[in-house]
Amino acid sequence: MGALASWVVLAMALGQSSAPYVRSRVSPGDASTQCLYWTQSRIVWQQSTVGNQRVTNHTEFKAISDSFQSWQDIFASCGNLTLEEGPRVSSRKVGYERTGSNINLMLFRSRSCREVVDPSDACNNLDTCANTYDCWDDSNGTIAITLTTYDERTGVVYDSDISFNAAQFNFTTGNGGPCGIVATPDCVETDVQNTATHEVGHFVGLDHTLATGSTMNPSAPPGETEKRTIDTGSRDFVCAAYPKGSATKPCIPLPDTGNGGGDGDEDEDGGSCAAASGGLAVLPLLAAASLFARRRRRGGR
Ligand SMILES: [Zn+2]
Repeated sequence: MGALASWVVLAMALGQSSAPYVRSRVSPGDASTQCLYWTQSRIVWQQSTVGNQRVTNHTEFKAISDSFQSWQDIFASCGNLTLEEGPRVSSRKVGYERTGSNINLMLFRSRSCREVVDPSDACNNLDTCANTYDCWDDSNGTIAITLTTYDERTGVVYDSDISFNAAQFNFTTGNGGPCGIVATPDCVETDVQNTATHEVGHFVGLDHTLATGSTMNPSAPPGETEKRTIDTGSRDFVCAAYPKGSATKPCIPLPDTGNGGGDGDEDEDGGSCAAASGGLAVLPLLAAASLFARRRRRGGR
């Protein structure tokens, strides 16, 4: 299988900031490492056709679309990329597909791996149970995970997939206020749009911040819907990192692209450098570069 060479699973970054926004880094929270960012101008994302198996009205599809649209509205006003929803797909596999058609996938996992996977199964050590058994493989009360695959040297993102933990959370899409002891049909328990808007923040390169009222605050109490509306700090991130009319901004200047045509400096950075801003030039790097998949977790207590 074309499994990734290195899957790094990281808990939430230590020492979280309260800055208006915090960009995701190759090493989370380490400002000496590159930021993560997309370089293509159009990113297609797709929802699994299954939706949330635990509900019947399937309003979750629209809630997720609305979450992306909230970000897209900002990109349209001051950003340089387009988030576009593609057709729903049958794939249930997250992660980067090097060959064939990679999918930036949104899916709900409706059963826990603990319930369906034998503890001795090799997938437990390989961290592949979720894809193999279509199950949620984290027991830490996480509401959703954004799994992002990126080039650890350039910070360029190749894939980002969002999984929702419908095995342990009761996702709702209503507007009727928090569910009480007796749930009403329209009450809010774990709001899909609230969750998805936060995760799409990770998708586009944001880390958590403890700033009050931020969509990227790591915690979400039951009944919360305020993260549906993107805060000004996160909005400023889009305008600053993905400025309209110019190239996406890394946090650390990229290595010389050597576009002068062989005027020395071959030893710099191993001579394998390709322009991180040019889609085609980047592709050959994939074979050699270690791509890291990182999970961004959302606390659920
Ligand atoms: Zn998060």
